[in-house]
Amino acid sequence: MNILIVEDELALSGEIRRFLEKEGFVCDEAYTGRIASDKIFSNEYDVILLDLGLPDYEGLDLLKESIKNKSTASVIILSARTAIDDKIKGLDLGADDYLSKPFSMIELKSRILAVTRRKHGLKGNVIRIHGLEIDIDKRKVFCNNNEIPLTKKEYDIFSFLILNKNKVTTRLQISEHIWGDIFEENYNSNYIDVHVKNIRKKLAEYLEGDFLDTVRGIGFRFNE
Ligand code: CA
Repeated sequence: MNILIVEDELALSGEIRRFLEKEGFVCDEAYTGRIASDKIFSNEYDVILLDLGLPDYEGLDLLKESIKNKSTASVIILSARTAIDDKIKGLDLGADDYLSKPFSMIELKSRILAVTRRKHGLKGNVIRIHGLEIDIDKRKVFCNNNEIPLTKKEYDIFSFLILNKNKVTTRLQISEHIWGDIFEENYNSNYIDVHVKNIRKKLAEYLEGDFLDTVRGIGFRFNE
């Protein structure tokens, strides 16, 4: 899951990044509204953490831009502002949640999981499908209580396909999701195919049936 942290307080941004990376998220940082705007325009993020008090930009304008660009990212507003006005304006504009500073990192993670569940219509942190259990909090996959030993990248790719089940996920979407801010010409799609091949091999040891399709020339789809 890739997260854009839009925050001009460098120390706070760094603290959020270190915490979230330790929890297995891919993070990108933008210290100004201008940089954030460029990044939101050129990348597909899963979640944007948006500080409203930026030096060069009205944070709520960034939110409007991201919605206009049809970004699918969930937006969590981070703000020291206590004004209820900004909170309501942000939520009205389409933000998914709001955290007042100071907040604990544990709470931030739980809000990120909550917006992810809402976006994908999940009831809890465990997704059950074809006898598999995917725990998006602990980042583990089980089949009949046996853990399938996926590497970090394999888990990232597999859980992304599961969250977007029955839809074709392109190689570029997968790259953005697991590597974050990348340039289209720089990514090697063969790398993803190698990971998917390994995921298939591991699944086959535990799971009857093959639900993971390769859609030629486009990407992959996990079928319910
Ligand atoms: Ca600020």
